[in-house]
Amino acid sequence: MDDINASDLAAFRREVRDFAQANLTPEMRDRVRQGFHATRQDMADWNRILHGRGWSAPHWPVEHGGTGWSALQRMVFDIDMADCDAPELSPFGLFLIGPVLHRFGSEDQKRRYLPGILDGSTFWCQGYSEPNAGSDLASLRTRAVRDGDHYVVNGQKIWTSEAHYADMIFCLVRTDTGAKAQAGITMLLIDMNTPGITVRPIITQDMARYVNEVFFEDVRVPVENRVGDENKGWTYAKFLLENERTASAYLPQSKRDLKRLKAIAGRMAADEGDGPLIDDPAFDAEIARAEIDLTAHEMMIWRVLSDATGIDSAAAASMIKIRGAELRQRISALWIEALGPHALPLYGPKPDSNTGFGEPDAPGAMSQFLIRRAVSIYGGTNEIQHEIIAKRGLRL
Ligand SMILES: Cc1cc2nc3c(=O)[nH]c(=O)nc-3n(C[C@H](O)[C@H](O)[C@H](O)COP(=O)(O)OP(=O)(O)OC[C@H]3O[C@@H](n4cnc5c(N)ncnc54)[C@H](O)[C@@H]3O)c2cc1C
Repeated sequence: MDDINASDLAAFRREVRDFAQANLTPEMRDRVRQGFHATRQDMADWNRILHGRGWSAPHWPVEHGGTGWSALQRMVFDIDMADCDAPELSPFGLFLIGPVLHRFGSEDQKRRYLPGILDGSTFWCQGYSEPNAGSDLASLRTRAVRDGDHYVVNGQKIWTSEAHYADMIFCLVRTDTGAKAQAGITMLLIDMNTPGITVRPIITQDMARYVNEVFFEDVRVPVENRVGDENKGWTYAKFLLENERTASAYLPQSKRDLKRLKAIAGRMAADEGDGPLIDDPAFDAEIARAEIDLTAHEMMIWRVLSDATGIDSAAAASMIKIRGAELRQRISALWIEALGPHALPLYGPKPDSNTGFGEPDAPGAMSQFLIRRAVSIYGGTNEIQHEIIAKRGLRL
């Protein structure tokens, strides 16, 4: 599958790590380590820096600014960047709507929107879920009615990540109320500065603003901002969701987190006077189990990337998503177990001043543990992924 040899790969990894060390500011890294959601500024700056090196969208086709790297290079790039505490780039442009536009967008849409995604100057958000349409997305009710050269949009989206940063939203709207649910949906690209759009924050249990409600009141959207055909939005929406699930493997993050878990367990004692937790056979077994499962997860991802499973692609994406989410949650729960009371504060201004106990890995552990409850919800809950595996993979 990959024609890069071991020494070229080692040189490539050195190049990636050197680049990250040279270009990440201490502030960016600290915010990542302390578990803060990346700021728009951090994501935009890092995206621009990567773009300057031609590395902002390795997975894109070369003609649109991709690198032409092999799957192995892309994977180790992500692993090394996460290991260096680089901020994760906003996924909504690069991973979600970008590939949809490559495949289904008009030439005008490609010209207008892809450059801003590639260089990180335009931020996007995803307007799929509604108060009564999450798992059952096809029951969405945000309405778009044609009025000459425009659609007029009314309705509400919810859980819209990064809507407060976004310049644009890609939105599923209902354009035909008479058709079967999936058949009456259209995808629109909407400028967030259009009159009639209101964004309200939702504060999550990590006390941060990441998600929002977005309201549309008589919002006029030019017809040329429709992706593909009217009433065919479900096709583009499904293509995008499959990409979202494959991107949700969380392998780079979980590898970094496991390393951090070992560092914590190497320092913390179960009780005063005890040796480090890592020498406790029961805790050590937990770490070993997580590591074995993470290795198996990595192998599974490889097999899927090399098309070696023979499993339907949607079912494979769902399998990866479930496993990736479970591992992310399990490892962050082990952090909390290992840190004990040190984990209590949500955030710390500096790595060594979070608790007063001087435990350098405490800041951010609790906030990340809490927000990671959501990884088995967004992009479709684990229960829904099980249904997809049953239908598409097992043909039940
Ligand atoms: C942090 C976060 C960020 C998000 N970001 C975005 C975003 O940017 N854009 C966006 O559009 N959406 C976003 N979402 C929304 C997310 O996609 C939905 O929350 C998710 O699809 C579940 O929908 P719901 O919340 O309406 O729950 P429901 O669909 O009401 O589900 C409630 C429970 O019932 C279970 N359930 C439902 N149907 C079935 C079934 N058929 N079989 C078995 N169990 C079932 C579910 O698994 C779940 O446990 C985000 C959510 C979170 C938490």
